[in-house]
Amino acid sequence: MSRVLIIGCGGVASVAIHKCCQNSEVFEEIMIASRTKSKCDALKEKLSGGKTKIETAQVDADNVDEVIALIKSYQPDLVMNIALPYQDLTIMDACLACGVNYMDTANYEPENIEDPEWKAIYEKRCKEEGFSAYFDYSWQWAYKKKFEEAGLTALLGSGFDPGVTQAYCAYALKHEFDTIDTIDILDCNGGDHGYAFATNFNPEINLREVSAPGSYWENGHWVEIPAMSIKREYNFDQVGQKDMYLLHHEEIESLAKNIPGVKRIRFFMTFGQSYLDHMRCLEDVGMLSTTPINYEGKEIVPIQFLKALLPDPASLGPRTKGKTNIGCIFTGKKDGKEKTYYLYNVCDHQECYKEVGSQAISYTTGVPAMIGAMMLLTGKWNKPGVYTVEEFDPDPYMEALNKWGLPWQESHNPVLVD
Ligand code: NDP
Repeated sequence: MSRVLIIGCGGVASVAIHKCCQNSEVFEEIMIASRTKSKCDALKEKLSGGKTKIETAQVDADNVDEVIALIKSYQPDLVMNIALPYQDLTIMDACLACGVNYMDTANYEPENIEDPEWKAIYEKRCKEEGFSAYFDYSWQWAYKKKFEEAGLTALLGSGFDPGVTQAYCAYALKHEFDTIDTIDILDCNGGDHGYAFATNFNPEINLREVSAPGSYWENGHWVEIPAMSIKREYNFDQVGQKDMYLLHHEEIESLAKNIPGVKRIRFFMTFGQSYLDHMRCLEDVGMLSTTPINYEGKEIVPIQFLKALLPDPASLGPRTKGKTNIGCIFTGKKDGKEKTYYLYNVCDHQECYKEVGSQAISYTTGVPAMIGAMMLLTGKWNKPGVYTVEEFDPDPYMEALNKWGLPWQESHNPVLVD
């Protein structure tokens, strides 16, 4: 009998919750708790009639005491954090206080990047590590000892990227290579929603990530480059030729630690020209800023105001047509011979919409969130401490991807990215 508390009820959480309900043998009872309870109630209504028993609650997950009170009253076996990266640490604290396992889909970043306490640590990290993204694993890795001592597991970043991409790396290392030399993670969204500009997941998190300098790991250190300054073209299976740009991405940091001897790790994402033009313009006029300004006596955070203007990512489902193709290309050695290998998933926006009422970006993140939770609930991935996906046996996760809607494909002769 398992009980799971799911925090957040946005685009990704909605898919994860649909999938939990499809997998009612594992997810017997769930509580959906979020800032806006009406969204949780609406989803409960939509999913009622299935075998999973659903309850809902209101919670402000920025407030540790509120989360603790909720966990104590519901007594879950696991807390799935599918709110925002801003809430990672408060929810981890609450899990520790209550003795419950934890998982999320993105690593910690602060809501207010002007906070002097956070900024001092950030600036030191930028200097020492050589990448300037606002998010990094250090905050959550700092909980490792506490989770070990409590005998609890924290699984970080079980979405697609981070998440599935790291399972692909662990799988490639286990089954295809003796040593991996290079990893290129390619994230292609060939979908079209018909708007001139919209983001596929939370606009604030998305625009922060994309407007930041890019970076990659090479020969033991980070190389940072101006935003969007490395561009490549790639012909993606079932999508076609796309422009893609090198970005910093969180799983590079953990893979650099956990894939022994890896020489280079890069991450590329596809963007159309319209998206890039809009983003540059919004950035130039200050609309991507997270620093509050005073407007007619009221404090406004520009990027949050922008979020209110943009289409809700959850509403893109019915409009988005086309496919995503996300995967990893590896080079390395097996039995003394050089080899190359490509593992990827192709997902169709409209198929996702038919199944769970969401577009493929939410789908490709929500399905692995459910699978990560299933790994913990079924005891396959329990080990006390704080871990990322590549630190566990990839086989049950890879099998579950095939079963639950994200089947993977492989190529032993892929075109490489120069
Ligand atoms: P949304 O903005 O659609 O949803 C976020 C949800 O969290 C909303 O329901 C929101 O409530 C709730 N929330 C926000 N703040 C709080 C709070 N203080 N207390 C309680 N609930 C809160 O985001 P997405 O669904 O697009 O993204 C969810 C997560 O998934 C993010 O962390 C994102 O970074 C991650 N992600 C990971 C990917 C991966 O591949 N690994 C890919 C895409 C996303 P309200 O409805 O009131 O706003």
